[in-house]
Amino acid sequence: MTTTTEHDTTDVLVVGSGIAGCAAALAAASEGSEVLLVTKATRPDGASTDWAQGGISTTRDDPESLEEDILEASDGTADPEAVETLVEHADDAVEDVLVETLEIPFDETDGGEFDYTREAAHSKRRILHVDAATGTHILRPFLHYVDDHERIEVRQDTAALELLTDEGRVRGILTDEETTGKPIYAGATVLATGGIGALYERSTNPDDATGDGIAMAALAGADVTDLEYVQFHPTAYAGDDPFLLSEALRGEGAVLRNANGDRFMDDYHPDADLAPRDIVARAVDAEREETGEVVLDVSPLEGEFEDEFPGIAEKCRDRGIDGDAIPVAPCEHFLCGGVDVDDRGRASLEGLYAVGECARTGVHGANRLASTSLLEGLVWGLRAGEDAASDHEPTVVEAPDLRNSDPDLPDRFAAEKFTRLRQTMDEYLGLERTPDEIARASAVLRRLKGEVDAYVRTRTARDLYELRNATVAALLIARAASENEESVGCHYVEETQPTGETADD
Ligand SMILES: Cc1cc2nc3c(=O)[nH]c(=O)nc-3n(C[C@H](O)[C@H](O)[C@H](O)COP(=O)(O)OP(=O)(O)OC[C@H]3O[C@@H](n4cnc5c(N)ncnc54)[C@H](O)[C@@H]3O)c2cc1C
Repeated sequence: MTTTTEHDTTDVLVVGSGIAGCAAALAAASEGSEVLLVTKATRPDGASTDWAQGGISTTRDDPESLEEDILEASDGTADPEAVETLVEHADDAVEDVLVETLEIPFDETDGGEFDYTREAAHSKRRILHVDAATGTHILRPFLHYVDDHERIEVRQDTAALELLTDEGRVRGILTDEETTGKPIYAGATVLATGGIGALYERSTNPDDATGDGIAMAALAGADVTDLEYVQFHPTAYAGDDPFLLSEALRGEGAVLRNANGDRFMDDYHPDADLAPRDIVARAVDAEREETGEVVLDVSPLEGEFEDEFPGIAEKCRDRGIDGDAIPVAPCEHFLCGGVDVDDRGRASLEGLYAVGECARTGVHGANRLASTSLLEGLVWGLRAGEDAASDHEPTVVEAPDLRNSDPDLPDRFAAEKFTRLRQTMDEYLGLERTPDEIARASAVLRRLKGEVDAYVRTRTARDLYELRNATVAALLIARAASENEESVGCHYVEETQPTGETADD
């Protein structure tokens, strides 16, 4: 890695330290490249990967049935070729990286075999897990491994603010390491910045999930696709400070009940409690509206709830939930769309890759199957990292002149505008949307973007850029939603109810 006082250069630059970023860094370094991984996280739990509960899917020597389940859960909208790529490379990636290199202690049966679990819409037990805290058990050793690697430098607490482009090619990023922005030039730039949960008030994601990679890529001119498919998980704790109740709970026997104590999922889908996520989420929402409450009844698990899901059981105790009935409500969880990439993570701009949740590979279509996101991040991270290593030498180009000179910027500006943004997303771009609501969201978000743009580039504060990125990502979601009139998977368009209000409200 060459460093001058003004800028840094590297062969491969990776932005983000979740499973996808770590996998890309590892693969590029294994090919002999010098890798710089920058992450705005200061702790592992800045990445959704660290929060993953249920596990990571394998094929368990039956690739066809995993392919079928992914396509079925997506309502036939997943790209069959992308699904084939995922499934073809799944077991080798899990075996080589997670089992052999990182030695992740996946749960085993008494007989010493892997203890595969099952989740909703999976036709069989094929998911590897560690308790119900699989992400933590994967990410922390992965970060240590990457950090110790001789050809990888990891820089924490460093946010990418913008992509640097020249003649249609991405040349690197501008970071917030200097108050006027610091360029890092790279032969290839891999975005692995995760999802968009922070755009919603109720989300299972960490605060870092502000859609940075998607916004930066779109602003640089890269194609983004399928952004209307925001997945809402059916079972998050319904109270303040929501947390996820993994689908593995239902896979192991927990059931949903409405306020009358009745099970209801049979009325919505033949697979009842194990139906695809979008269907269960809308059913939970409808039953909450009709009866007042939905609970996840974990009594069928008997003693196994505490033993097998200790992290979730602890969160329940922390919230004062006593007994087997946990109040649940849908909650933003995952973005199926993102930066449009091919089977090696290559985006539409030369020199740019995207992997993990910020990318749209086609694997999830309109609705993701449980426990395929960690797998997608791992498989595409490895493929993109390997490909990026064969890319060009870094080239130094002109970087924008950022200033840090706006004393008038109200300190609370970013926080206040973020609140407005989240309210807009919750209200108008939630589980179900009407065309009116989508138009209303677009109008509010356009105004917000105007206000934010007036400040960006006059001040390099990270929260201002996160707000800018979140606003751009939100506008792109609204635009995608407005352009797709068909209700499919996570995108459910209700008929407009006449309200007498205008789209400018
Ligand atoms: C509660 C929860 C449970 C889940 N359970 C499962 C599960 O059981 N199985 C499964 O397959 N999936 C699960 N998922 C989904 C899965 O965890 C995520 O989709 C996946 O981990 C995303 O990985 P990633 O590497 O793409 O992004 P992340 O892990 O989110 O990492 C993104 C990284 O990018 C960094 N970053 C963001 N913007 C910038 C920037 N501008 N500059 C520098 N760095 C930046 C962040 O700090 C972070 O380090 C779960 C998600 C959540 C939230």
